[in-house]
Amino acid sequence: MNRTILHLDLDTFFVSVERLLDSRLQGRPILVGGLSDRGVVAACSYEARTCGVHSGMPMKMARELCKEAIVIKGDASVYTRYSETVTRIIRENVPLFEKASIDEFYADLSGMDRFFGTYRYASELRRRIIRETGLPISFGLSVNKVVSKVATNEAKPNNQRLIDPGREKTFLAPLSVRKLPMIGDSTYLTLRNLGIRRMSNLQEMPGEVLYRVLGRNGLTIRDRANGIDMTPVIPFSERKSISTERTFDRDTIDVQRLRTILAAMTENLAFQLRRGGKLTACVSVTIRYSDFQTYSKQLKIPYTSADHVLIPRVTDLFYRLYDRRMLIRLIGVKFSHLVHGNYQIDLFEDTEETIRLYEAMDKIRLRYGDRSVTRASALGVKTIGRMTNPFNGQPPIILAHRKQ
Ligand SMILES: [Mg+2]
Repeated sequence: MNRTILHLDLDTFFVSVERLLDSRLQGRPILVGGLSDRGVVAACSYEARTCGVHSGMPMKMARELCKEAIVIKGDASVYTRYSETVTRIIRENVPLFEKASIDEFYADLSGMDRFFGTYRYASELRRRIIRETGLPISFGLSVNKVVSKVATNEAKPNNQRLIDPGREKTFLAPLSVRKLPMIGDSTYLTLRNLGIRRMSNLQEMPGEVLYRVLGRNGLTIRDRANGIDMTPVIPFSERKSISTERTFDRDTIDVQRLRTILAAMTENLAFQLRRGGKLTACVSVTIRYSDFQTYSKQLKIPYTSADHVLIPRVTDLFYRLYDRRMLIRLIGVKFSHLVHGNYQIDLFEDTEETIRLYEAMDKIRLRYGDRSVTRASALGVKTIGRMTNPFNGQPPIILAHRKQ
């Protein structure tokens, strides 16, 4: 049975939100990111792209390339709010959807054909999002995720594209292999060296050759270029979370020590977020007093994976929670409302140095273990308790008598 998969992607999301807030920005080159020379471009308008600017570029370079650009310091909390509005509209209208990133969604509309035309249904959904939020959004509709995503990108800006079942290969054939999701710079170079530029070259390439050069990945890429992709739409669930907690050997009231442990826990969870390419929009802290009374508090925050943003939030929650001045038996930290994403959303405050520092620290952790490098605030903590398996959506198992 053919599936029907919809891919929706907000156009230049941060820029579009800024234009909603200030209509004078319409039609002008816009850079969103850190304002200082050391800042990085988090997003840019189509007008700025024509000057050769792209996201991730140092702000200084972007300003030189596009002198007339208006530079705006981004606001993650505003973008998060708009992202949630769009999510709500999609949730109200489709039975099964996946939030792939802050501005990107997949929906499985298979089987809906019997009741309404899926293309008409998708068009109506898109119109509704535009009407209710004022944000431009594009979609692609086809039999799978990969073809729909490519179709969305071909449709942009602010448009839609249907690829009829059976037309996947023909649709992809003339496009650059670069347009295939998951082809990064190094794979692209490898393919170029094999003389592969267009999807049609990839479609005709013998599997053995690609396997020799790129391993199993080469075969996946070839399948995708042929319009074959069975990846399911993974239902979006607010319950997706990662968490950690620690039960003390001896109950404690040492607030300084508790703070240090919380910082270490947060730092470690944030590393797991980044390693999994995720962002969180909700942090919670749990404490259990010596009389076994347990309290939790949670806080919605703008999407982030940066521990220098998360640690103060967690500390703050702890102080708001800890009001009984009684011995504490257990503390825990949880990040939920996870979506795919990277540092980009945090770039507004951050300099290239901050981003490089994160990259360098994460590299050390990947190589030498996740406690090999730490912030000074978390120093002195040798163990931070049990980590629950991230991203499986399961609630943490409580091991009440675990030794530290
Ligand atoms: Mg987008």
